[in-house]
Amino acid sequence: MHPISLGLHGGCGTLERHLQSEADWAEARAHIVDALRAGWRVLRAGGAAVDAVQATVVVMEDSPHFNAGHGAALTEDAQHELDASIMDGATLAAGAVCLLRRTRNPVLAARAVLDSGRAVLLAGEAADAFAERQGLTMVDPGYFTTQRRVDALRRLQQSAATGALLPASEAEKHGTVGAVARDAQGHLAAATSTGGFNNKPAGRVGDSPIIGAGTYARDGVCAVSCTGQGEVFIRRVAAHDLAARMAYGGQTLEDAARTLVFDTLSSHHIGAGLVALGATGSPIAPYNTLGMYRGWIDTDGQLFVGTHQTVHAMGPAGA
Ligand code: ASP
Repeated sequence: MHPISLGLHGGCGTLERHLQSEADWAEARAHIVDALRAGWRVLRAGGAAVDAVQATVVVMEDSPHFNAGHGAALTEDAQHELDASIMDGATLAAGAVCLLRRTRNPVLAARAVLDSGRAVLLAGEAADAFAERQGLTMVDPGYFTTQRRVDALRRLQQSAATGALLPASEAEKHGTVGAVARDAQGHLAAATSTGGFNNKPAGRVGDSPIIGAGTYARDGVCAVSCTGQGEVFIRRVAAHDLAARMAYGGQTLEDAARTLVFDTLSSHHIGAGLVALGATGSPIAPYNTLGMYRGWIDTDGQLFVGTHQTVHAMGPAGA
């Protein structure tokens, strides 16, 4: 038996504290706890890591606080184009979808692609049609829209039009959700889901659905889900870079993640973060921004949640 463990991030585009009420912060933290518990139930029942990360990401997608599913970012044409992926470290099986417009839970579509075994990545209307044929819940695109994202898009477009010198905050620009898990068999898995960047060009695909860029899992090495400016994560093949540093370079998970986030990715002057888990030990969640929504359940079954610097110990995760 291996010690089970689970971690998540809700994107390194955390709002500045004063920009939302205490009640909203409490709700966002509660949704992180719910998401962790959903994955934990799977692991505690002896379920697979890949099922646990899926269960966790579904809860994050359903929450309006994070940029994935309900609450997703908007393109420059005020449309939603959603990306997601999932990878099973036991078999290296992977599934991903990009540019979805109608599938309520993109991570479930990514999982259906993995299970089909016929492709790794499906795109656009064909991917939505595939999800529909698999019996997944389809929604009107308005379901994904929240006032916060509409306001953020307007602000970004106004400042671009006026040539404002002030850069947009990380929170206005982006976010993502992702999870990593290790099950009792020692298998690792990772999943990521996102609305991408606010004001992104139509048809833009980020790193989240690209295996090796935004998501990667390989038994005996690590599982990782990334967040930040996707173009750089693609060019750096960031998620696989973490695994390669460990597998070929002999770095520990902590050293590999530190180098990746604070040297490699930070050298591009972008916001960057990740959640990752190794073959042993508890998850880590480094980031270089003001904050990153994150949480994990360690190998002792203790649950932790953070949005900014402080990490709150929430006690035992329960059954
Ligand atoms: N990585 C995501 C993307 O580029 C955005 C983010 O994580 O904030 O689509």
